[in-house]
Amino acid sequence: MTAKRLDGKALGQAMRREFAARVADRAAAGKRPPGLAAVLVGDNPASHVYVRNKRKACEEAGMASWLHQLPTDTTQAQLLDLVARLNADPAVHGILVQLPLPKQIDEDAVIRAVTPLKDVDCFHPENVGLVVTGHPRYYPCTPHGVVRLVERNGIGWAGKDVVVVGRSNIVGKPLAVMLMQKRTAANPAGCDATVTVAHTRTPDLAGVCRRADVLVAAAGVPGLITPDVVKPGAVVVDVGTNSVGGKLVGDVAPGVDGVAGWLSPVPGGVGPMTITMLLDNTLRAAERIDG
Ligand code: NAD
Repeated sequence: MTAKRLDGKALGQAMRREFAARVADRAAAGKRPPGLAAVLVGDNPASHVYVRNKRKACEEAGMASWLHQLPTDTTQAQLLDLVARLNADPAVHGILVQLPLPKQIDEDAVIRAVTPLKDVDCFHPENVGLVVTGHPRYYPCTPHGVVRLVERNGIGWAGKDVVVVGRSNIVGKPLAVMLMQKRTAANPAGCDATVTVAHTRTPDLAGVCRRADVLVAAAGVPGLITPDVVKPGAVVVDVGTNSVGGKLVGDVAPGVDGVAGWLSPVPGGVGPMTITMLLDNTLRAAERIDG
């Protein structure tokens, strides 16, 4: 079997065209464009690439974007001061502080400083709590991208046995929450799946993975998911983005495409969907703030 491709690049582009049309409608109604302020501290090369791609996608959809680039030795007080100014700026609907931050800065304090209405990453505890209780204001971008990538390819989540490998606050944990939740009008990305979360202390990772109808790899370990741990025909979503010898690779090893029914590529799978869902949140933020 050769797995069918979960093409996040193509789906992301199609969804961004829908957003661009909504942005154009808003402009025709005299409303200001949705605006994303990106904050980049230091010179992490991967962060620079992520922020550049996010801003480019915004601009292509007719949204405004600004880059606030700060030096590596920025103090926490300076960063919090910038966040406060962006919170108060009416042209800014979404604030994205690219992680990781330099060691002298407390990431949690910065996440909590972003006003929840402009928290388009959905990292603020208030927004995380709303997701967990099934009344989301925003969905976190990478988990939401995974949910949509699968279902917009005609694959249902309801009732499936899903295994998520990874339990971080950014990917594994919020994804597991969304997957297990009841789908309601207030929670349209709830998936009604049966979810198992595996992590570094899971004793029999291979045995757990083999049970999965849908296996999501979000460990950040290149080649962790080998063909022998995948149930034949399973849907495999590779969230991993790891640089190996200057090449971008996922957590899924070569050969899995010979066993899985569906597989998301790296690059071109979850990465573009993450950016797409950031645009979704920025547009939603503009709708909430400006009407
Ligand atoms: P993280 O390091 O914060 O968390 C990794 C998680 O995987 C941990 O919970 C850990 O328990 C688990 N894990 C690690 N090694 C394991 C192993 N050998 N067996 C079982 N579990 C293991 O990372 P993260 O921020 O969640 O990111 C995970 C991966 O996803 C990374 O490669 C990251 O670059 C990528 N990522 C991609 C996108 C995207 O848009 N495509 C977005 C965010 C993160």
